[in-house]
Amino acid sequence: MSEIVLEAVDLKKHFHVGGGLLRQRATVQAVDGVSLQVRRGETFAIVGESGCGKSTLARLLMRLIEPTSGSVRFDGRDVAGLTGRHLAGLRRDMQFVFQDPFSSLNPRMSVGRLVGEPLETHAPEMPADERRAKVAELLRTVGLRPEHADRYPHEFSGGQRQRIGIARALASGPRLLIGDEPVSALDVSVQAQVINLLHDLRDELGLTLVIIAHDLAVIRHMSDRVAVMYLGRIVESGPAEQVFAAPRHPYTMVLLSAIPEPYYSRATRRLPLEGETPSPANPPPGCRFHTRCPFARPDCASRVPELRSAGPDQLAACHYWEEIAAEGPVASPPPPPRPAPEVAQRFALYEAALAGAQVTRRAETREIQREER
Ligand code: SF4
Repeated sequence: MSEIVLEAVDLKKHFHVGGGLLRQRATVQAVDGVSLQVRRGETFAIVGESGCGKSTLARLLMRLIEPTSGSVRFDGRDVAGLTGRHLAGLRRDMQFVFQDPFSSLNPRMSVGRLVGEPLETHAPEMPADERRAKVAELLRTVGLRPEHADRYPHEFSGGQRQRIGIARALASGPRLLIGDEPVSALDVSVQAQVINLLHDLRDELGLTLVIIAHDLAVIRHMSDRVAVMYLGRIVESGPAEQVFAAPRHPYTMVLLSAIPEPYYSRATRRLPLEGETPSPANPPPGCRFHTRCPFARPDCASRVPELRSAGPDQLAACHYWEEIAAEGPVASPPPPPRPAPEVAQRFALYEAALAGAQVTRRAETREIQREER
């Protein structure tokens, strides 16, 4: 088995909210008992609806916030115990790529300063000309030109700004990148280019990627393994191909069935997702998904399902996944509804863009090389 580079054990983050005049206090269980392992060199995706706790989990993994309980280990070190230069070393080794390339870059700083700033922090002894050369190299690495260092973020498109954000994240020489919805703010065609860039960088630089996303199309094309979150807990995990081909948890089935033909897995039945996501301040007892699950049985409201084996390297937190899987994909009574035209078009565009993005990046690289000659 590949080496484990990042591990979370029974991680919890509970926020206490309310009080004041109404004196109503509540505890939001944003992350509630998450355990996961990320292997060196893989792309590990965490997926779920907004509000499921995935972004809080990403911040816990990087120790940007402190957990209520549980532990995180990076390269065998307990990150909670790190202080001083050891904590600075963690910041260098694990970097964050933010969702919004429009607000994550300081508009008053030139691209050169933005990308060079982490070098000033982590390698203050580096001479200025060496730092400039390093910034130029980083810009080339992400498909930008060295002369872009003199410009400002507002002069770039959304995709180019995300490339600047990635160059900044790479400046400290990290071994692990965590991307919190790194492409969701971008146009579909640009999303594909940035996804391919991250993929290529992973292979070229030997990085490990953790990608947080709500869009299964993004996950499908870039991840080796996937964890599905619902209301602060992981409900299914496993190799991405396997989870897409044979989902075991009803929530994963529902998410996959929302992907229109022909882009969804034909092993998946068409299932509606009804009702609102319950509040994490007052999660349903028993299985947290029972209020929306199309297969719920009476005891699901009182018995908490544990994550258990559901196939090779696959886990699912459902009491009845065997029986549900045995019914097979054709047992679903309602005929598949036709996807809304705009949704189908979005996925068609996405597939086409993914095919074209690789060509685009190669063309960009050739253009930069030609200009440098
Ligand atoms: Fe549905 Fe019950 Fe399984 Fe929960 S345990 S996912 S409610 S069938």
